[in-house]
Amino acid sequence: MKEPLSEIKWAPRVSKSKIRKLYQSEAAGLLDEVLLDEVGISLYLRCQSILTVGRAQRGKVECPRCARSECDTTIERQTSRKEEVLRCPKCSWHLTWGEYRKTYQGKQLSEGGVGRYLRAFVIRYEKARTPKQKILAVDQVIHEFHYNTVKNIHQPTRAACVNLIEGKLTDVVAFLNELTYGNRTDKRMIRTRNDWKSTLDGMSKWHLKPRAINTE
Ligand SMILES: [Zn+2]
Repeated sequence: MKEPLSEIKWAPRVSKSKIRKLYQSEAAGLLDEVLLDEVGISLYLRCQSILTVGRAQRGKVECPRCARSECDTTIERQTSRKEEVLRCPKCSWHLTWGEYRKTYQGKQLSEGGVGRYLRAFVIRYEKARTPKQKILAVDQVIHEFHYNTVKNIHQPTRAACVNLIEGKLTDVVAFLNELTYGNRTDKRMIRTRNDWKSTLDGMSKWHLKPRAINTE
């Protein structure tokens, strides 16, 4: 039997170079479909990890041992105390909440305000059959924002790309700004990029420039 801590696995962020190459191939009208699948699946797994962390933060911890055998078992966390022992009722995997929390901290895995968009991507990617459908889903999710979920207002607080792509927030934002688009790039991707840029500009008006925001 494995050590309980080592059974928790979080999907890593996607590398900038893979996304850069993907967009270059798209802009040249020679979409690299193998790379598209690789990037798409990596983003899909990354979103699943962030959503799993989000549920754990809300008190529903997924047992990683059961998950590996494709059986979903939720452990109901009772308190926010780090000493609380999370124990799976099915397979008896167990860990304290404090130990569990440490596995995701500092890894850009906090869902805060972007969960609904990541869930939308997961569903959209599962249904995507053509390369066009896949790249549109990928393009949309890397241009999402976290929104304020505490107050009842729809205000973007931070670009979500840093949760999905390797690097510091300011670097990843600059990277997205420099992605290659070509004459044949789908109009919907151009629109997504324009919307993204205007949201970023709007954020700076509220003194919420990306560099001023805590990245975790
Ligand atoms: Zn279990």
